[in-house]
Amino acid sequence: AGGPGETSTRTTCPYCGVGCGVIATLADDGGLSVRGDPDHPANYGRLCSKGSALAETIDLDGRLLYPEIAGRRAGWDEALELMARKFSETIAEHGPDAVAFYVSGQILTEDYYVANKLMKGFIGSANIDTNSRLCMASSVAGHRRAFGADTVPGVYEDLEQADLVILTGSNLAWCHPVLYQRLAAAKAARPEMKVVVIDPRRTMTCDIADMHLAVRPDGDVALFNGLLVHLAHSQAVNAEFIGDHTNGFADALAAARANEADISSLTGLSDGEIEDFYGVFEATDKVVTCYSQGVNQSSSGTDKVNAIINCHLATGRIGRPGMGPFSLTGQPNAMGGREVGGLANMLAAHMEIEKPEHRERVQRFWNAPVIADKPGLKAVDMFKAVADGRIKALWIMGTNPVVSMPDADAVADAIRNCPFVVVSDIMHDTDTTQYAHVLLPAAGWGEKDGTVTNSERRISRQRPFLAHPGEARPDWRIICDVAMRMGFGEAFAFQSPAEIFAEHAALSAFENEGERDFDIGDYAGISGPAYDALQPFQWPAPVRGTPLWPAGHLPFKGGDYGVIEVRHQSQTLKDEKGGPYHLIYPLEGEMAGRAEGGNFRFFADGRFYHPDRKARFIAVQSAVTERVNTAYPLVLNTGRIRDQWHTMTRTAKSARLSAHLAEPFAEINPADAEALGIADATLVRVASLHGKVVVRALITARQPRGSVFVPMHWTDQFASNGRVDALVPSVTDPTSGQPALKHVAVSVEPY
Ligand code: SF4
Repeated sequence: AGGPGETSTRTTCPYCGVGCGVIATLADDGGLSVRGDPDHPANYGRLCSKGSALAETIDLDGRLLYPEIAGRRAGWDEALELMARKFSETIAEHGPDAVAFYVSGQILTEDYYVANKLMKGFIGSANIDTNSRLCMASSVAGHRRAFGADTVPGVYEDLEQADLVILTGSNLAWCHPVLYQRLAAAKAARPEMKVVVIDPRRTMTCDIADMHLAVRPDGDVALFNGLLVHLAHSQAVNAEFIGDHTNGFADALAAARANEADISSLTGLSDGEIEDFYGVFEATDKVVTCYSQGVNQSSSGTDKVNAIINCHLATGRIGRPGMGPFSLTGQPNAMGGREVGGLANMLAAHMEIEKPEHRERVQRFWNAPVIADKPGLKAVDMFKAVADGRIKALWIMGTNPVVSMPDADAVADAIRNCPFVVVSDIMHDTDTTQYAHVLLPAAGWGEKDGTVTNSERRISRQRPFLAHPGEARPDWRIICDVAMRMGFGEAFAFQSPAEIFAEHAALSAFENEGERDFDIGDYAGISGPAYDALQPFQWPAPVRGTPLWPAGHLPFKGGDYGVIEVRHQSQTLKDEKGGPYHLIYPLEGEMAGRAEGGNFRFFADGRFYHPDRKARFIAVQSAVTERVNTAYPLVLNTGRIRDQWHTMTRTAKSARLSAHLAEPFAEINPADAEALGIADATLVRVASLHGKVVVRALITARQPRGSVFVPMHWTDQFASNGRVDALVPSVTDPTSGQPALKHVAVSVEPY
C-alpha cells in the first residue's frame, strides 16, 4: 500500500536487537521515507535516531556491485567456481577443519541457516562462528548453565510492568533506544517505578535512574553474590520455589559467602549504596534485571550472568509478568543466529553439538553425509588458527573483523596472510575487504528478504523494497550456489528464503517430542504468500492474536491471501468440518500489516530444560582482576555511541547521524586529565601493550577516575589510527569465549 505514486513495505530495522518494525515508503520518483510501524509489538511506531535516518543511508556510494577476484572484476560463475574449488581442495588436502566461516548478526536467519548447514552437515566441521560471539555469547552460556537451554525468560512488556528495573552493563538510552523510550514512558506513567543503573560510567541512561551504582570494572559478580547472601540472611528467598524448581542453592550461597566481607572493595561501592540496592531488591516483587555488553564482554561474563540469574531464582522472580533476568542482544539478528545454530558450539533449534543424539537427529533431518562431531573454534580462537596456519580458507560474511575483533592488528595480519580469503559485503572498501582474494557483492537492507529475531525472541520479516544493485545477491543464494558447486546440490536447491524458513521450522519440530518450547514446526509448511505476509511472532507459539478465520469463512472478497495450516503438538488442528484448520492472512488492505501482540514467557510453569526440569544455581566467585600497572595505569572501557552502528559503513552516510559525535574521542575524568596535562578537546594518544589510537579528549565527570571510555565505531577509514579494538588483548571468558572488550589497561598522553 502507500499513497498515490507510493509503495509502502513493512519491514524491520537492521540495527539493534530491539528489532523495531519499520514502514518504508518508496515514491515512484525513487524517494524513500521511513517511519515506525505502529502495529509492531517491539516499538508500536517508535524509532530512534538511527532507525529514523535509514532513508539517508540507502545509496550506492561505496557499494560493492560486482564480484572481484584479486582486485579485478569477475563474473559470478568464475568467482563461485573458484571458491568451490579452493574450499574442496583445502578440505581434501588438510581436512574439514582447515576451512572456516566467520559470519554476522547482521545476516538474516535464512542466510545463517544455510551457512550452518553447509559447514556442519556437509563440510563436516563446526568452524562457523559469528560476530555475535562478541555480543552475547556469555548470556548464551549462562542461560545454558542455569536453565538447561539458551532461553530468554522475559519479554519487553516486563520492563513496563516491573516495579524495579535494574540495568546492569547496559547504556539502554543509546544502545537500545526504543526500549529505553518504552521504559521511560512507563516510569513517567508510574513514577513509583524504580530504575537502578549499574555501570562504571554515568551514562545517559542514568537520566531516569533513581540510583546509579558506579561499580568498578568486573565488580558485578561480587555485587550480585552479596545480594544473594543478603536475601538469604533476610529470609527474603522463596524457599518453595527453590525447593520445587531448582538445584544447587546451598553451593551457590556458600560460594557467594566467600565474597561477603569484601563487597565494598570488590565493587568500589559504599556500604550505604550497597544496602540501599539490596534493600530495594528485597522489598520489590516485580523486578527485571536487564544486562548487556557490560556484563557479557568480560573475562567473567558467564559468571556475571549466572550471579544475576541466581538472585532471580532465589526469589522465584522469573517467568512471571514484570519479573526476570533479561539479556539484551546487541545485533538485529544475534538471536536468529542462535536459533539456527550459527555459533561454533551449537546446533540448530537449540540442540547441542556435544550430544550425540542431537547430532544424529540433525544429520538425519538434513540427510547429510557427515555431521560435525565436536564444537568448532570460537571467534578469537578462529583467528588465532588463521594466524598459525591451521585454517587455510576463510569466508567472512557481513562483518569487519579487522576493526571489531580484539587484538585487531594481529587479526589483520592473520587475514592478510591466509592463503584464501573470501569476503561478502555490501561495501567495497572496508578495513577487511582489502585482504580478500574473492570479493562478493551482497544485497543489503531494503534489498534482502528474510527474517530476524529480536531480544525477546520475536521473529519479524525483513522485506525488500529495492532492486538488487549491480550484480549483488542475497547471502543465502551465494552460500547455496557455492554448496551446489561443491557437490551438495539437492540439499541446497532452495529457490527462496521462504523455502529455507520452512525447512528451519520443520527441523525445529523434527523428532522433537520432548521440547515443544523449541518448536516452530507450525511454520514448516509455510507457503510463499504466507511467508510474505508473516506477522511478527515469538518462539515457540505458532501464531496467536492475528485475525483467525477458518478456511471457507473468509471475511474478505477478492484480494490475495496467505494460508498456513495450523498444527499443535505436531497434530494438524481440524476445523468444524473435519478439514485442516487454516489461518488466512490478507496480503493487502488494512489488516495486512497487523502484528500480533501476544507475549510468551519461558518458565511461566516453573519448568526448566535440564533433564530433571529444574533450574540450576551456579556457584560463582568474584573475579575482579587488577589489570592496570605503572606503564598502563588506566582502565579502558569501549562501547557504542547513540548515532553510529558498528563500523559505520552505513550510518556514516547520514550527515545528521554523524553530527551527533563527529569524531572519535576519549572520555577522561577531570582529575585524571589534570594529572596527565591534558586539555579538553586536544588530541590524545591512548595506548596499550597491543596498539594505539589517537582521539580527541572529552573531559567529563561522567567518567570515573582511573578510567577512559573510547567508542568502538571508528575505523582507519574514518579516522587515522581509529581502531580502538587494536588496543584490546584477546582475553576471553573461559566458558563463553567472549572477549573482554571493556577492561583493558592503557596509558593516555597528549598527542
Ligand atoms: Fe532500530 Fe534499534 Fe533504533 Fe529500533 S531502537 S529503530 S531497532 S536502532
